[in-house]
Formats: sequence, C-alpha cells, structure tokens
Amino acid sequence: MYDLIVIGGGPAGLTATIYALRKRLNVLLITKDLGGKTNFRLQLPEIEHHLVINGEEVISQFVNEIEYLDFARVMDKVEKVDRTHDGYRVSTRSEKEYSARTVIFASGANAQRLNVPGEKEYMMRGLCYSAVSYAPLFIDREVVVIGDTGLALRASAELSRIARKVTQVAPTHGELDTPLGQRLLQSPNFTVMEGFHAERVLGDDYARTLIVKKGPDVRELHAAAFFVELDLIPNSGAVSALVECDSKGRIKIDARNRTTAPGLFAAGDVTDAFAEQVLIAIGEGAKAALAAYEYLLEQPAEHPVVHGERPY
Ligand SMILES: Cc1cc2nc3c(=O)[nH]c(=O)nc-3n(C[C@H](O)[C@H](O)[C@H](O)COP(=O)(O)OP(=O)(O)OC[C@H]3O[C@@H](n4cnc5c(N)ncnc54)[C@H](O)[C@@H]3O)c2cc1C
Repeated sequence: MYDLIVIGGGPAGLTATIYALRKRLNVLLITKDLGGKTNFRLQLPEIEHHLVINGEEVISQFVNEIEYLDFARVMDKVEKVDRTHDGYRVSTRSEKEYSARTVIFASGANAQRLNVPGEKEYMMRGLCYSAVSYAPLFIDREVVVIGDTGLALRASAELSRIARKVTQVAPTHGELDTPLGQRLLQSPNFTVMEGFHAERVLGDDYARTLIVKKGPDVRELHAAAFFVELDLIPNSGAVSALVECDSKGRIKIDARNRTTAPGLFAAGDVTDAFAEQVLIAIGEGAKAALAAYEYLLEQPAEHPVVHGERPY
C-alpha cells in the first residue's frame, strides 16, 4: 500500500509527486501523460519570443526527474477511485488496482472545442484557448473572442485594455448584464456580435479569418488571434461520487487542498481554486503534497508514515 497516489502528471500533479518524494513518502504517480497542458504552446506570426511564462520550461525539470524515477510512475488512465477501510483504491483502464492511504487528484480540465471545420488545423496557430495566458501579446492588435460566459467576458475585458479592437462572438446574451458586461459594452474598442455562432476557421499557416453566422447573416472576421473562451470541463468524473463539486463540476477544496473526503486532496485546474495558470497549479500541487503529508503524520500508529523505503 502506498502512502500517497497522485493522479495526473500536469504541473499540479508533477509538483505534488516531486514534493512527496522529497518528503520520502512512498508515492506513486498515475497519469496519461507527463506535462499535461504545458505540452501546448501558442504559435503566432511575427511573434518569435514572447513574455508569457513558458510553462513547458518551468515544468520540464520535473518531467526529467519523474522520467528517471520510473518506480514512482505508471502511465495509465484512472477510471475510478473508491474509498476503502484504510484509504483509497485506484482502478485504471488497464485493469490494474493500486491502494493508498491518501490520494491527490490533479487531473486538470479540458478546454471546450468549437468543433467547426478548420479548428484542428489552426489550434494553437492563431486559434488560442487561454486569453489569461496570452492576452498581453496583443498590444494594438485586432482580436476576436468566442463565448458568452464569464470566462469570455473576462478575456474580452483583459484584451480590451491593450488591443486596438476586440470583437466578441456571443451565441447568447449570456452574462452581458453583469457589472463586467456593462462596463465592457461602454468600452469604445469593444463590439459584441450577439446571436452569432462560429462556423469555420480559415487561414494560411495561421488562422486569419473566422466565418460567423446568425440565421442568413454570414460574416467574415479578420484578426491577429481568435480566443476560444468556452468554459473549461474539469476531469473530475473518477472522484465525483466521493467529493463535493461546484456547479461547473470542479472539486471544492479548502485552503489546504482538502476535499470533502478525508485523505483525498485535489490540486490545479480540476478544483475550484482561483485562476488556471501553470504557476498557480505548481503552488497548489506543493500545497496538496504538504497537506497530505501532515494528514499522514496524524494517522494512528498502526499506519505510520514510512520514511526511506525508496532508493531516492
Ligand atoms: C492551450 C493552453 C495554453 C496555455 N498556456 C499557458 C501559459 O502560457 N502559461 C500559463 O501559466 N498557463 C497556461 N495555460 C493554463 C495551464 O496550462 C493550466 O492552468 C495548467 O496546465 C494546469 O495544470 P494541472 O496540473 O492542474 O492540469 P493539466 O496541465 O491539465 O494536467 C492534467 C494531467 O492529468 C492527466 N489526467 C487527466 N485525466 C486523467 C486520468 N483519468 N487518469 C490519469 N491521468 C489523467 C493528464 O494526462 C495530465 O497529465 C494554458 C492552457 C491551455 C489550454
């Protein structure tokens, strides 16, 4: 039985694993990949180097370490986590089962896709899924934001501070009546195309044009980048029967990354913690590992934390 199983090898899960190894916990990382969403990088014409934090570089050190420590990782998909009398049982797609006294769930969240022709070709080539990461690149440019939730409004608000023109393609009225929506509507460089849907992405090496449609009204929008800002879908399914989630399916955690299930911690984009960013996920992963460690220290003497079992 492990002291700790970490599920998910993105910034949150990798950091939690490394931190737990440093604490000499008997830890296993189970993940579908190493690096998570830091494996995506936005490419833009005429912008070779940019100032956003390059998540891949920050996290690649941890990936190297985990690749070397092959005893501490299993590449597999977790299907289910169940409660047992002394901890948790983790079942995977390849029909393996692993037991641990504690679990850190760090499976991230997926960006919703537009599912229109051209999206696959131009994904991360001018078609971007994280305005909070890339908005600062668009000084004095024209950009398009697609979406009608609070996420899209926040993207438009951030972009409208620096871009020359922001056009929001909003299928519904959405949250435009909120204070943020009302403030945006007063911005001289902001236009909303209410009732329009994205139909197709066109371009050359990069996305250059978005075709949008409202009934018979079909228009072409040209921009330096197109931000798909639809709500993220948290990968919380494997534990959703065990823990409390918010209305968006994100796992509710407290300041110590505790979920409502004792010994089950969560970190990163799968949780309701503020903001989806690499540095935040790293901090949340470290916090979760420390919280799990302290939880183990408090367990009765028949389940002591075993130090130094690993050749690390
Ligand atoms: C396109 C894009 C670009 C971005 N660019 C930036 C940027 O430049 N700077 C920045 O700070 N942030 C950026 N972000 C946000 C940042 O990538 C995320 O906030 C961060 O990666 C979250 O880390 P995480 O560990 O919580 O989740 P993720 O990075 O999503 O990692 C989740 C991990 O869990 C694994 N997993 C999922 N389900 C299972 C399962 N059932 N079983 C086993 N493993 C599972 C996945 O394979 C993955 O390894 C970007 C996001 C996107 C979508």
